[in-house]
Amino acid sequence: MMMREEINSGQLERLLNEENGILSGKDFILRLTSYMNQEMTLRKEETSSLDRKEDNRRLCYLSAEFLTGRLLHQNLLALGILDRVKELASRHNLNLTDVLEEECDPGLGNGGLGRLASCFLDSLVHLDLPATGYGICYRFGLFKQSLQDERQKEQPDNWRHEDLWGQENRSKCYRIPFGGSVDISCNESGELKFKLIPEFEILAISVDYPVSSTYNNRVQPLRLWKSEAPEGFDLDLFNRGDHGKAWKQINTAESLTAVLYPGDEAESGKKLRLKQQYFFVSASLQDMMAEFRETHDPHWTAFPDKYVIQLNDTHPVLAIPELMRLFLDQEGLSWEEAWNICTRVFAYTNHTVLEEALEKWPVSSLRELLPRIMLIIEEIQRRLEEESGTPSIIQNEYVHMAALAVYGSFSVNGVAALHSRLLTETVLKDWYIRFPQRFNNKTNGITHRRWLMQCNPALTNLINDLIGNEWQRKPHLLSGLNQYKDDSSVLERLGRIKQGNKELFNRWIHMEKGLNCPPHYLFDFQVKRIHEYKRQLLNILSILQKYRALKNNPDIQEIPHLFLMGGKAAPGYYMAKEIIHLACRCSSVINNDPLCRDKLQLLFLPGYNVTMGEKIFPASELSQQISTAGKEASGTGNMKFMMNGALTLGTMDGANIEIFKASGKENNIPFGMSSEEVVHYRKEYNPKTFIEGNQEIKALFQEIENGLLGNPDEFRDLLEHLFKEDPYLVLPELEAHTAAISKGERLYSDKQNWLQKSLMNIASSGIFSSDRTIGEYASDIWKLSARKAD
Ligand SMILES: *Cc1c(COP(=O)(O)O)cnc(C)c1O
Repeated sequence: MMMREEINSGQLERLLNEENGILSGKDFILRLTSYMNQEMTLRKEETSSLDRKEDNRRLCYLSAEFLTGRLLHQNLLALGILDRVKELASRHNLNLTDVLEEECDPGLGNGGLGRLASCFLDSLVHLDLPATGYGICYRFGLFKQSLQDERQKEQPDNWRHEDLWGQENRSKCYRIPFGGSVDISCNESGELKFKLIPEFEILAISVDYPVSSTYNNRVQPLRLWKSEAPEGFDLDLFNRGDHGKAWKQINTAESLTAVLYPGDEAESGKKLRLKQQYFFVSASLQDMMAEFRETHDPHWTAFPDKYVIQLNDTHPVLAIPELMRLFLDQEGLSWEEAWNICTRVFAYTNHTVLEEALEKWPVSSLRELLPRIMLIIEEIQRRLEEESGTPSIIQNEYVHMAALAVYGSFSVNGVAALHSRLLTETVLKDWYIRFPQRFNNKTNGITHRRWLMQCNPALTNLINDLIGNEWQRKPHLLSGLNQYKDDSSVLERLGRIKQGNKELFNRWIHMEKGLNCPPHYLFDFQVKRIHEYKRQLLNILSILQKYRALKNNPDIQEIPHLFLMGGKAAPGYYMAKEIIHLACRCSSVINNDPLCRDKLQLLFLPGYNVTMGEKIFPASELSQQISTAGKEASGTGNMKFMMNGALTLGTMDGANIEIFKASGKENNIPFGMSSEEVVHYRKEYNPKTFIEGNQEIKALFQEIENGLLGNPDEFRDLLEHLFKEDPYLVLPELEAHTAAISKGERLYSDKQNWLQKSLMNIASSGIFSSDRTIGEYASDIWKLSARKAD
């Protein structure tokens, strides 16, 4: 793409000159980013006008969540001013590394799904593919987590006060209708005409975040919508003297995008969430249509040639009936025309097979809040029923969003090979039989720019020294590292880098959280949202078994092993919060027992987010990915660990399977049942009889009962649940997991051998770059073309 004028560095110098006084870190950042925002807005406009000229198809990625992480470092790289700014900072006695630590980390997502969306935007811009991310500008991000009395404490995250990048554009705003009724009339030719008479409207205002590239000058928007009361809306009421009601309506409007629902993998069924979903998809579609109108004669049949819309999970699936509404009621298209366009424009990504996570909305809520949308869904269902042998979208007065998504999309994908297969065999089986050609797999990925180059400069330099830097553009070339697997000097350097990163992590976590992670321990991480299916409980119980073994035989020579756990629990998810409580208690019992010193330690790291991840992955040696096989759709944390040289201790689930395949089972520590074995085992499984038949496990619970962790009543609910249900097979896999940990320690005691495995993991991690994933989406689903070089 065309090069813009070199950055006007004179302006930058003037802004950050020390001659007019020394700046504090905060002021320095504010001045710097005001300049950067100007530059990037210009680049964004240039990108957009060049895109219009080329008139290629554009991807719109609709996602209720984006976990962007901090943006300053990447944007400095993109503008090519990192070194310059480092120098300017030093004139204010500032260290740029410390300045970067001042930036807040916008928590506009729960976990993997939101982070995936941000990795995708990064790959899209670097691959020079025209794309817009559309989402919600939550006023409060995911809660901040701290620990108090060994329990999770939640605090609001008022991140907008510290936001450096959001560019509000009041000229890009749309009205979103809610409630009311539908007027149905018949025109002269006997066609039904529908007119929605909304009860109220809410304004959607765009706030753009720059998505910038270090390879080209492309800057494209992550466009988030925030809600406001429309002007004039309250005035009528005010004039009639009904101030109370006027304020209430303003409040309702503004609270619509106030909070992110903190449930990960849980469908919450709340009306406000339904409103949020409709709000952001309607605004996004109106935005695309306005843009299309500006540049093309509104021959809507050409719309799918110019736009393709990827639905990230079912959260944005109301876009399908909403686009129907806009075409039918506003553009006057016939049903057949409108449906034909829709089914050529939408593609859907499924993220889960967990029953409790599959979204469904009561017909009654839809009818009340979105009456026209509900009529359209009913018409879709009616026409669907005319085709024989199809499953249905409305069942027992609920609208099943995944069903609507499959029916209204031309592509349906899962996020790892196993997951995509399970979709066709279980939750979407009937749909697969009806539309087999729609189903495909796109294994997730992560951006190696953030998750290797940016967060692990020492390792990046080593790789550059060994194989040059072409791998940065073509990450599969990391495989070139394999030739060094027997080179002891390379392995030694790799070991020193890991040790250095462990020291950096220790310093950082001490400064941030006051915790100590002495670097002579093996660093073993399990960080991810707390969920029963992810089995943090399995890890804790294995740690307790190791602790008991140590107490029974204090002389066994163990390698120093530090277990680090972290992750947020949804505030309403009782069992998940009890698991955090148990982890904290075990941590204090074990770490306070002198017997465990230099042998076994456990820490719970509060406040896991993207920024903490950037410190964790480079310092990691073992990556625990131990979900019950068949339950974790893909996982992406597993890929970040692998790319930074950790070995995966994990089950045959999600993308773990593909990780083992890429780097070799012998270079990792796989354990446990396959997804088929899990299904089979569950049929006969009874936790009570299982415990009765297993002396080791029985003894563990006996000791807990006798006060190993203090008052056993504190963990009664958690343990009762385990004894009664154990839905994720923690107990049957406890021995295998404990054995896997011991195997990990054995392997670790042979340092050279361990480092060789570590190197081979890094060498095989290229296929987990989201550049590979996006390349597959672009060629198989979106049919996008990168801009021709000029
Ligand atoms: C990558 C990432 C996740 C996803 O982790 P999984 O182990 O795949 O569940 C969650 N949260 C954050 C902050 C991440 O960076």
